[in-house]
Amino acid sequence: MNLVEVKNLKTYFYSDEGVNRAVDDVSFEIPEGKTVCIVGESGSGKSITSLSIMQLIDKPGKIVEGEIIFDGVDLLKQDENYIRGIRGSKISMIFQEPMTSLNPSYTVGFQIDEVLKLHHKELDKKGRYERAIEALELVGMPYPEEKYNEYPFKLSGGQRQRVMIAMAMACEPKLLIADEPTTALDVTIQAQVLDLMNKLQDKKGTSILFITHDLGVVAQMADEVVVMYRGHIVEKASAKELFEDPRHPYTKALLNSIPVPGKHKRKSRLDTVDENIDYLQFPKEIR
Ligand code: ADP
Ligand code: MG
Repeated sequence: MNLVEVKNLKTYFYSDEGVNRAVDDVSFEIPEGKTVCIVGESGSGKSITSLSIMQLIDKPGKIVEGEIIFDGVDLLKQDENYIRGIRGSKISMIFQEPMTSLNPSYTVGFQIDEVLKLHHKELDKKGRYERAIEALELVGMPYPEEKYNEYPFKLSGGQRQRVMIAMAMACEPKLLIADEPTTALDVTIQAQVLDLMNKLQDKKGTSILFITHDLGVVAQMADEVVVMYRGHIVEKASAKELFEDPRHPYTKALLNSIPVPGKHKRKSRLDTVDENIDYLQFPKEIR
C-alpha cells in the first residue's frame, strides 16, 4: 500500500526573467512503512518537491499541476484548515539546521510540550511530561530529565537534531519528511541519527521521505530511490537496483562521483558529474 502518491507534480517559480520549472512533472510513490530517498545535486528540486507535499510553497512559487494523494485524499483539493490539521500531526518535517528550528529562548522541554499540547489534546500536564521524557529516551538522549530543562545552546549539534527528531516523532506522524537532516553533523553522529531513524521506523511503521545529496546516506536509508536532475526524475529504482545496476547516465555519473574507500587517487574530472552535459538529452530510465 502507498501512503503517498505524487502524480505529475509541477511547481514553478515566476519572475521577470521568466519561469523556473523547479519541479517539472514529477511522479513517485511512498509505500507505507518504507523509506524513499530523493537524491540529486543542489538545485535539482528536492526541497521544493517536499515543500510541495507539505503545501509550504509561497509566492513567487506555485503548484501549477498535479495530485498529491495522501492516505487516499488529494491534498491539493483540500482547504487550508485541512492541510494545517495534517501538518505536524500526520506529516512531520525535520530540517537541516536544528538551531534555526528550535527556539533558543525556550527550554527543550517547553518546546516538546508545545508540540504535544497541539497534537495530543487528550494528555494532561503530567501525561505530556511523561510522553516528552519517553520521546527523549527513544531518541537516545542521555539524561533526558536534565536535558528537558536545558536551553538548546547547551546541547551539541547531534543532541539538538535528536530533539528535533523526538519532536517530530512525538506526533506519531504517518509520514516523516527529512530534508538533509544530518548534513551539518559529523560523520559519527550522522550515522547514529540515521540508525535512530531506522529504528524508530521499525517500531512505529512510519514512512520516511528522506532528501539528500549524499549517496552514502541513500545506501544506509533507502528502500526506494528517486534521482532528480533539474526538476525532473531521471531514474526511479529500489536501492539495490540503483547501486548494482544504475541505468541512467546521470545516475552513473553520480555514483562515480562517490570516493571509493581504499582508492585514494583523485577521480578524474570525467568521472564526476559534468556540468557541460545536459543529462535530459538521455531517455529517462524510470523503472
Ligand atoms: P534542492 O533542494 O534540490 O537543492 P530546491 O528544491 O531548493 O533544490 O530548488 C529547486 C529550484 O527552485 C532551484 O532552481 C531554485 O533556485 C528554485 N527555487 C527554490 N526556492 C525558490 C524561491 N523561493 N524563489 C525562486 N526560486 C526558488
Ligand atoms: Mg534542498
